[in-house]
Amino acid sequence: MATHYEASSRVETTFPFECACGYRGEGSAVGEGWSQSQSHGLFADPTAESRALDDAEGKAWADAISNVELAPCPSCGARDGAKWRAWIRSRFLPSLGWGVLAGVLGLIGLFLMRQEMDSWPLVAGAVSFALVTVGVFGWQVARKRTQSALIAIHPRP
Ligand SMILES: [Zn+2]
Repeated sequence: MATHYEASSRVETTFPFECACGYRGEGSAVGEGWSQSQSHGLFADPTAESRALDDAEGKAWADAISNVELAPCPSCGARDGAKWRAWIRSRFLPSLGWGVLAGVLGLIGLFLMRQEMDSWPLVAGAVSFALVTVGVFGWQVARKRTQSALIAIHPRP
């Protein structure tokens, strides 16, 4: 019997902010992370529980730091293009993973419903794949844009 652990974490931190225009400041950010893990065995597994918590904390820190790094500059209003591209690359593959899962489920689901071996299950799979990939990815980018825009950045003394 496996036990399922879930953990969420929230951190508040200040992180240095630098812009190409020369502005130097500090951003106060909140980050959130969520994780899960599984124990394999009959008894409660404290390492599985702390693994989930460690992972959630790591994600919360990464979320907070990226919120500051991706924030618009309070002086010139620009966002760091290179950091945005790196962040978008890091989010794209996981979104693709959810898309592939949705595509497979869509394909199998329509085939099971109709029991016919034509091209419609493939169409359903392709449409589910595209919608979920674009949806998950777009939601994350929109969320990050909104969150990073709300970061309070103060000039460094
Ligand atoms: Zn600037």
